[in-house]
Amino acid sequence: GYGRGVAPAQDLFTVNSPNVEYTSDLIKTKYTYRTTAVTQDADGKYVAAPKETLYDFKVDRRIPKLGVMLVGWGGNNGTTVTAGILANRRGLVWESKNGKQEANYYGSVIMGSTTKLGTDSNTGKEINIPFHDLLPMVHPNDLIVGGWDISGMNLAEAMDRAKVLEPTLKSLVRKELATMKPLPSIYYPDFIAANQEERADNLIPGTKASWAHVEQIRKDIRDFKSANGLDKVIVQWTANTERYADILTGVNDTADNLLKAIEDGHEEVSPSTVFAVACILDKIPFINGSPQNTFVPGAIDLAEKHGAFIGGDDFKSGQTKMKSALVDFLINAGIKLTSIASYNHLGNNDGMNLSSQKQFRSKEISKSNVVDDMVAANTVLYKEGEHPDHTVVIKYMPAVGDDKRALDEYYAEIFLGGHQTISLFNVCEDSLLASPLIIDLVLVAEIMTRIEWKAHSSEGVDAKYAGFHSVLSILSYMLKAPLTPPGTPVINALAKQRAALTNIFRACVGLDPESDMTLEHKLF
Ligand code: NAD
Repeated sequence: GYGRGVAPAQDLFTVNSPNVEYTSDLIKTKYTYRTTAVTQDADGKYVAAPKETLYDFKVDRRIPKLGVMLVGWGGNNGTTVTAGILANRRGLVWESKNGKQEANYYGSVIMGSTTKLGTDSNTGKEINIPFHDLLPMVHPNDLIVGGWDISGMNLAEAMDRAKVLEPTLKSLVRKELATMKPLPSIYYPDFIAANQEERADNLIPGTKASWAHVEQIRKDIRDFKSANGLDKVIVQWTANTERYADILTGVNDTADNLLKAIEDGHEEVSPSTVFAVACILDKIPFINGSPQNTFVPGAIDLAEKHGAFIGGDDFKSGQTKMKSALVDFLINAGIKLTSIASYNHLGNNDGMNLSSQKQFRSKEISKSNVVDDMVAANTVLYKEGEHPDHTVVIKYMPAVGDDKRALDEYYAEIFLGGHQTISLFNVCEDSLLASPLIIDLVLVAEIMTRIEWKAHSSEGVDAKYAGFHSVLSILSYMLKAPLTPPGTPVINALAKQRAALTNIFRACVGLDPESDMTLEHKLF
């Protein structure tokens, strides 16, 4: 609970509407969700009918003291995001070869971007506000960061090992980072590349899943929470990419089987799944930033049973983010994309881990499906089952370090048999792109724990408020292979993902979706 006297957020705006009510602790809204229901008549013709559903939303305005625990805290992402939050909190300015550099949150959609609130009644101009101000969200400067790593280096040394930040910035945060030491973690060598073994010196005993591991992780989270006086904790996997776990009947296919498999020490239960299970049992939101199938069916089932939030998979930071924007544009422009060839080379520890075939395979899968929804939606360009050729190659090239190179060729068919070829050379400073996503995932997952809804129907209104579905697909914008509730569509298109984020947030304060129609500028 709260009870720490946390004042409600200072709202940048209020909504003036009979459907919106503010109390000291809550924003309560009545929101009419308008969709289009389609049926097919006897001749196979579509019939589209407007449909309305009335929802009550309730947002808790009290901002909790929030902790984030990273699995893989001593890695490139873990150290970079920790130093970055510290630099922002302290308002640091440091010398770089280009002059003075100030801390910022560039690359965070929540902290670095704005969204249109509405149109100025007098001037007709757009009013845009920081995304962060749409709802009463936690500020990242207030996050308390901790976590686990199989490597026992303190965060200052680990930051040096990562070779991401400027020496001048490092010197300003070194003292504080040196006091931070990752908790020992679980290491099942079969799941990550053999080349990682050397750094594994900070371990909880045992080399396969066990209930003791689950309990140790739960205890670590409880201890972190009480030591820092936190209201809430969110856990995120930013550790090495694991190989896929085989989906086995009786082992990881249901919640009960998965729990039993952990007790039995079954070899197909990965460390990331053990972390997920530990979090789910205590309703701690757990987000997977790597591509492996942490969320085996049994883990999803368990999360649904406990009403715990999970989100994943794999941060969408560089090449795939471009792809999910560019392919959306090409196919929606009516241009028939026929092949995508994607090459990467990188020289950080992630790259070294991915030089092993099974771990690469996890990444290949998560990078490969990102255009499926856009292709399937365009029945004019693509016949059923037709798909552009798509290949993904990743090579380990130590010299380029964390500055990953992503080379892509997009080859497309245009009017009357012509062709368009787009070549991209994208230098993605990997951890500097991923760190703001880690922050966004935490902030969005946290606010989702404070939003509840109930539906009105012909039978009346639901008796109780409920939370969103356990699988937080609203996080999709930040993720390469978005996990969605079982049986629901996956949206990869970047613009649609952002629109969902914006418009769900708007609905929670009783505002209609931003349609971009701007009729007020067209019909006068
Ligand atoms: P990294 O190798 O620098 O860091 C991973 C850390 O995890 C290491 O310190 C390692 O010791 C630790 N680790 C491994 N197994 C562990 C376990 N069982 N428990 C606790 N710690 C463990 O890698 P990184 O560059 O920080 O990337 C982290 C992950 O994020 C990778 O899986 C990568 O594929 C994924 N990812 C990164 C990006 C990006 O950086 N742009 C984008 C998408 C996904």
